[in-house]
Amino acid sequence: MRMAKIVAIVNQKGGVGKTTSCVNLAAALKAAGQRILLCDFDPQANATSGMGVDKTVSNGIYDVLINSVETEKAIVRTSYGDVLPSSKALAGASVEMIDLPERQFRLRMALEQVRDNYDYVFIDCPPSLELLTLNALCAADSLLVPLQGEYYALEGLSDLMNTVRLVRRSLNPKLEIEGVLLTMFDGRTNLAIQVAQEVKRFFPGKVYATVIPRNVRLSEAPSHGKPITSYDRSCRGAEAYVQLAQEFLKRNNG
Ligand code: ADP
Ligand code: MG
Repeated sequence: MRMAKIVAIVNQKGGVGKTTSCVNLAAALKAAGQRILLCDFDPQANATSGMGVDKTVSNGIYDVLINSVETEKAIVRTSYGDVLPSSKALAGASVEMIDLPERQFRLRMALEQVRDNYDYVFIDCPPSLELLTLNALCAADSLLVPLQGEYYALEGLSDLMNTVRLVRRSLNPKLEIEGVLLTMFDGRTNLAIQVAQEVKRFFPGKVYATVIPRNVRLSEAPSHGKPITSYDRSCRGAEAYVQLAQEFLKRNNG
């Protein structure tokens, strides 16, 4: 079996649907029989709790990065996929990592240890382009970029794309764009349709045909510690993420 493809879910804007997409795409792929690891790399740890894992029990990825705990020992198994949890402690890691050797590659080294056990590893990034996100860009094979389907969807994206170019030039030459996902999308409005066209011009061939609608069930599920497919499998949000999982697999030949 091939080793996992590592996909970072990234956009330095907050509230665009990174965590929601990470949890629900991971769970939908797990339900489709894929071996999944979700690495929560945001100190807010919303993906951790969204997968039903208690974010106060261990330091998770922080202990792996800073205290040399084996990655395998920090992983929590759930019926929605394996989770490498985050915690508040991760907020301090960027500062603590500055003195460590190969500080940009700490996450890559951590994931290398377990990569053979999975088909896909998803990294939920924090809303910034600082050292944590740089670690994710250096660990990843590809980037999945959620964009909120609104007027300012592309705002700030040139900063992200410049960072990606710099990373490709030196640290991670093989970094690709996995796909661009329109989230919280209302396809009935002219504005949303215009935004979708603009995003497709900016990322030719990369925008998923599947769009994620605005759906209140998606915002309720995390407080129940469940991905949408387990919280309400027949709602529009669940259907969209199941369809996204299929499109994702098709792009990856399997
Ligand atoms: P990010 O990780 O980019 O900061 P989140 O995934 O946490 O974004 O989403 C921000 C907020 O919007 C959360 O409260 C989440 O529950 C809600 N949300 C995300 N996607 C949708 C959607 N498609 N429909 C309705 N609410 C959504
Ligand atoms: Mg988030």
